[in-house]
Amino acid sequence: MTFLDTLLKRNETFAAHDFPLGLKLMPREKTLVIGCVDPRVDPVDVLGLKLGEAAVIRNVGGRVVPETLQTMAMLRALGKVMGGELGAPGWHLVVLHHTDCGITRIAQSPEMLARYFGVAPAELDAQAIHDPRASVTLDVARLKGNPQLPGGFLVTGLVYDVSNGKIETVVPPALLREEPPA
Ligand SMILES: [Zn+2]
Repeated sequence: MTFLDTLLKRNETFAAHDFPLGLKLMPREKTLVIGCVDPRVDPVDVLGLKLGEAAVIRNVGGRVVPETLQTMAMLRALGKVMGGELGAPGWHLVVLHHTDCGITRIAQSPEMLARYFGVAPAELDAQAIHDPRASVTLDVARLKGNPQLPGGFLVTGLVYDVSNGKIETVVPPALLREEPPA
């Protein structure tokens, strides 16, 4: 039996016993998580997410790169069609970085990383890839500084420690953008 067989078996159990009817396309808890693809840091497990509660974007490092913003724009457009405004007041946006991230181990491939971040190789040092507390702070600031994003998100920057399973709140929750007084 291969691992694929195992997965399909697990799905049979899921469909038979755990499949919840009636889930909505838009996340029930109005939450969007941006996290890393690393198998040790799956937000479903480390944050205890249940099916349907949150949308999750995963990429290398959990970084706010041009593709992340494209995905967010598509989710927002989808939200409008589905009658739920992504990023309206009441939404959470969680950026989850972690210790021992593999992105630090491809630092010797500056061209690849520069393409990923959409910057020149000379600007890679400014992407804080070696320090998860710095990178999550940078990415939250990047989200807050992006005028294309809806301002109602409550944005939080977290760092997960792969050595003990604990999460530190590095950037406390704050509105993506304080709306100017009317
Ligand atoms: Zn990682």
